[in-house]
Amino acid sequence: MPATGCRKQVRPPINIIAACFESPEFDPKRKVNKWYRCDNCRKKEKIWNSRPRVVPFTVKCDNCDNGIMRHINWNIDEYAPDHTPEKGDRIFVDLSREAADIVFKNKIKSCWDDKPYSLSEEFESKEKALEYFRRTWKFGAPAIETV
Ligand SMILES: [Zn+2]
Repeated sequence: MPATGCRKQVRPPINIIAACFESPEFDPKRKVNKWYRCDNCRKKEKIWNSRPRVVPFTVKCDNCDNGIMRHINWNIDEYAPDHTPEKGDRIFVDLSREAADIVFKNKIKSCWDDKPYSLSEEFESKEKALEYFRRTWKFGAPAIETV
């Protein structure tokens, strides 16, 4: 089985923050409000996890170009299974198969010739790499959506 290629950070579209290849475990206690702060512009944002699965420690900032927001103040994560987000709030949702395809294509494009972990050494064509990622994709990876 091939490895999944280069370790370079792949920049996904703004509304997609991650794609993982394993199905994160189901846990109802994960439906919480979490605070994130941008390393660059210092914006703070509360993001609700609408699904009972893990979320990433970092997300892209929507207030500045290259900002990365980190999960802060873990001690005040608020369990909120019935939270109703306001219009304009960003929330964690499950990554759709269509969105996962965009992430895979970005990864293949940016990692095809990236040494020493190039995908071109592991797959005979970009189409074969895409087939592999589609086959190994499992429902449950996190994405961000604006309400
Ligand atoms: Zn920012």
